[in-house]
Amino acid sequence: MRTICYLLLVGILFACQPTEPATMEATTPAPATEAPAYAMVIHGGAGTILPEDMTPEKEAGIRAAMNAALDAGETVLKNGGSAADAVEATIWVLEDSPHFNAGKGAVFTNAGINEMDASFMTGHDQQAGAVGGVTTLKHPISAARSVMEKSEHVLLTGKGAQEFAEMQGLETVDPQYFYTDFRWNALQQALEGERVDQEKLQGHRIIEDIDRKYGTVGCVALDKSGNIAAGTSTGGMTNKRYNRLGDSPLIGAGTYADNATCGVSCTGWGEFFIRYAVAYDVHARMAYGKASLAEAADAVINQTLVDKGGTGGLIALDAKGNIAMPFNTPGMYRGYLKATGEREIKFYSPE
Ligand code: ASP
Repeated sequence: MRTICYLLLVGILFACQPTEPATMEATTPAPATEAPAYAMVIHGGAGTILPEDMTPEKEAGIRAAMNAALDAGETVLKNGGSAADAVEATIWVLEDSPHFNAGKGAVFTNAGINEMDASFMTGHDQQAGAVGGVTTLKHPISAARSVMEKSEHVLLTGKGAQEFAEMQGLETVDPQYFYTDFRWNALQQALEGERVDQEKLQGHRIIEDIDRKYGTVGCVALDKSGNIAAGTSTGGMTNKRYNRLGDSPLIGAGTYADNATCGVSCTGWGEFFIRYAVAYDVHARMAYGKASLAEAADAVINQTLVDKGGTGGLIALDAKGNIAMPFNTPGMYRGYLKATGEREIKFYSPE
């Protein structure tokens, strides 16, 4: 009797086994509704990025930095780390590279200094943090995350932001660290262009024409627990004045994250991204309009902004691992990876 019961039990257990997964995968593509183990998307700024302006060395340098950034984030995600840790680790690599307008490669203000902005948001709890106008923090993205996790505020600026970050033990550097010839020359050209422009009495046209402002970095990650985090870091716009802040440190404009919809990081002409609450608009179109990630992201960048003359792009990622990277400029440094091993880095449009 005992043997019969045992055989019966084994039979039931066997019957309850799921179909062999390898066979399923080989014959049936995974439905789009299935969340991937993890995924990540990055940008290194949008603008007049053209193949004819690129040297092989520069292209290789940018590609290597983006690959290193993706590697840093993937190491975190693959090992079961959080999306927030992945975003921070990824942006550190981009902030350390002179190729991007964030951290080391930040642009110069009209006064010839580097004032950096960053923001951070986690999608499972809508916690957010940001800093604006910091001048000595090596990794502004970590300051933004610290504001989120260790203060009762969302946005700290200038001296107070610096003081808070230093109290948290974040690394500071001499402002000279942020000097690069490339960005300094860009400021000189902007100043010269402005002088010529003023002579022609054409007001603020300079901002529109001079494309040396781009190179902001951003990252959105989805971890194995299904949580989304997003972060953005920038030096802002070359030749900016009066403690100008763009969209990058503003939650809802430059950065947003909600597990129920998506995570977003933007890059482009910040004043437009602020006015049209771009990052939040992508979320809202999904939440209220039931748009897909691709539809929502495309509508904001290629309809709303194009209609108004706002240039730039964004990266976005939803909880199913769908990725969108629309931009309305000639190029945007962008890349993504998925747990399947899929990885792509692109600069131009079309490519
Ligand atoms: N959005 C940034 C700003 O306006 C600049 C950029 O992304 O290129 O400060």
